[in-house]
Amino acid sequence: MAKYKLEYLWLDGYQPVRNIRGKTQIKEFASFPKLEELPDWGFDGSSTRQAPGGSSDCVLKPVAVYPDSTRRNAALVMCEVYNADGTPHDSNDRATILDDSDTWFGFEQEYFLYQDGRPLGFPEHGYPAPQGPYYTGVGYNNVGDIARQIVEEHLDICLDAGINHEGINAEVAKGQWEFQIFGKGSKKAADEIWVARYILERLCEKYCVQVEYHCKPLGPTDWNGSGMHCNFSTKYMREVGGEPYFLALMAQFEKNCAEHIAVYGPDNHMRLTGLHETQSIDQFSWGIADRGASIRVPHSFKKNGWKGYLEDRRPNSQGNPYQIASRVLKTISEVPKP
Ligand code: ADP
Ligand code: MN
Ligand code: MN
Ligand code: MN
Repeated sequence: MAKYKLEYLWLDGYQPVRNIRGKTQIKEFASFPKLEELPDWGFDGSSTRQAPGGSSDCVLKPVAVYPDSTRRNAALVMCEVYNADGTPHDSNDRATILDDSDTWFGFEQEYFLYQDGRPLGFPEHGYPAPQGPYYTGVGYNNVGDIARQIVEEHLDICLDAGINHEGINAEVAKGQWEFQIFGKGSKKAADEIWVARYILERLCEKYCVQVEYHCKPLGPTDWNGSGMHCNFSTKYMREVGGEPYFLALMAQFEKNCAEHIAVYGPDNHMRLTGLHETQSIDQFSWGIADRGASIRVPHSFKKNGWKGYLEDRRPNSQGNPYQIASRVLKTISEVPKP
């Protein structure tokens, strides 16, 4: 038997951006615990905007477990929040995602690393050289000193945890980075985005670096904002598809444009301006290989008979992947299959 440190993680009740919270409990197991072996736990919801002080107990139900290579005998345990009566808590967006093991999501999380109130590599006053060489760049002038160390360490901790990263890259703005996570099953990639966000923020503590997830931290300048493109496919889209179904899908996305924007992250009007590879926030469009469209259709999609996956480019870096996945699946479910 060994004593395991179980870091139970959950999302709080803050709006418009939920924070990820965590606390540790120690339990003894013969070997690394399976999800079914992890007990429910509780927390003081009055400290997280999830309950009034008089009746403050909220329930944590483990939904996924990941090895934590940064601590000895440790796990990260992603949880959903429930009320004492067993119903999902209002803040529990994960519970609203249609369950479908044949839906696949891939999220591209962009973010800035900040120190002393500015992106890593920015001078104390003014701006560094304009955008251009930073995207996928190399060299001290482009990426500075500690950024790559953080990004690499983050990747290793995530891979150790079994998180399904598909790649990482330096982004267009100085101090801006991206990681991509892909998952089969309607909730898997969203779970892993939250755990990867948690790992990144925790890792950055020791570097005195803050992760800036805001979608336009440098305001209305010529510096790129951060998105979290949502790539998605259902079994039907991958295996049957066809142009009429695709067009019906796009018509439904257009009809629900406002409902999508509502859960695609705060302050998105600052980012979806029609510039910097974005569509305007109040317009919906799709286009083949078009990075200025709301939904980009990969070349391969049309070539394969309108089958495959699509990229919704509107969700931003601060969006909640649970709400995003939930909304995308809801809109798809409204479209009849011919
Ligand atoms: P880009 O930056 O050109 O948009 P990326 O390589 O960063 O492309 O991201 C593409 C994403 O699409 C990856 O996260 C990948 O996992 C995802 N993806 C690929 N195939 C599918 C699929 N069939 N269903 C859902 N997502 C997919
Ligand atoms: Mn990308
Ligand atoms: Mn990107
Ligand atoms: Mn993309």
